[in-house]
Amino acid sequence: MHTPIGQVSVLRDKLRGSAFYGGLATCGSTLSCPICATKVQERRRVEIAQAFDWAYNVAHLQPVMVTLTFPHKIWHDLYELILQQRQALKLLRYGKPWKKLTAEIDYQGLIRALEISRGGHGWHPHTHEVWFVGRHVKAEDLQVQVLKQWMSACIRAGLLDPADVKTVAAFMEHAVHVKGWCQDSDYLAKSADDKNWGIDREMAKGATKLGKLKGLHPFQLLALAAEGDTKAGQLYVSFAMTMKRTRSRPLFWSPGLKGRVGINDSTDEQLASEQREEADVLGLLTHAHWQLVRASKSRAQLLDAAETGGWPAVMALLDRLALAVVKRVKPPLKQPEACPGPQSVSSGGNPTGYERSRSGAFTESPF
Ligand SMILES: [Zn+2]
Repeated sequence: MHTPIGQVSVLRDKLRGSAFYGGLATCGSTLSCPICATKVQERRRVEIAQAFDWAYNVAHLQPVMVTLTFPHKIWHDLYELILQQRQALKLLRYGKPWKKLTAEIDYQGLIRALEISRGGHGWHPHTHEVWFVGRHVKAEDLQVQVLKQWMSACIRAGLLDPADVKTVAAFMEHAVHVKGWCQDSDYLAKSADDKNWGIDREMAKGATKLGKLKGLHPFQLLALAAEGDTKAGQLYVSFAMTMKRTRSRPLFWSPGLKGRVGINDSTDEQLASEQREEADVLGLLTHAHWQLVRASKSRAQLLDAAETGGWPAVMALLDRLALAVVKRVKPPLKQPEACPGPQSVSSGGNPTGYERSRSGAFTESPF
């Protein structure tokens, strides 16, 4: 949402009235990019709802929500934790005990959401899974069986020290939670709502101080960084780098499940660049307009203007931004005649005149 891949446009959703940009590159990094996360997440929600509908009404199965966590300490490295967690999830589904369990519960597949938060005890990766199982399965019994196998997997993956009696006791109590007959709203509220995955412009403004809050989502760290919290910024960067290094994905469907539910598979990158909403094009921005918006960090402000006052409000904002630039860029004392006067910009309604000024203020992107 920085780099133009065509003509940058401002669009407004017909149904919800929310404004957004067109013609900009998207990254599709669902775990570390708040813009793509929100967009991809909305699409993924629909698919998850479809899977629940399939389970209840077509396949006559029971969706159970299985939450798997493990102990972690402040000094643990996120990269190591992610790899160990991955190993534990693999071990959980390996060998005779898993085969026996899946046969007993008539297991048909799962959807897994990976979540990572940052609290007082460091990074906390955990998963919320929905398993599609037989209608006869009792959640309490399943929890006991899964706990046994998850504990063994965590020990083998190096996530739990069996000699550490205190931690083992806490593990027994908290590491596995199973909820039977779960609805898509339960699952989405736990694993895929805006609070957890996406973050909109309003939420970003409301974040509070790091340390006071438990279990901060990485996007909340990002919001804190925007307010000047350097530590939160460093944590966010290390999170984003780790997600890239580990090629982590926020959602995993077991092979074949999407096909059974009747969903065509599309990648996060495709979803992030797709535009499905019915929207009006309010107007087109020139390359110079866009550089001005970026340089003055007004991308969100412009969308606010588009939502409240339409295209005239957008143009008025662009004029104000250009004028602010003129006031900031003082001409060198020896050549006062070289500086354009502010009237020429505001009256002409074209902030781009400054693009070509000697200051060079916007020839280079600040990003
Ligand atoms: Zn992105």
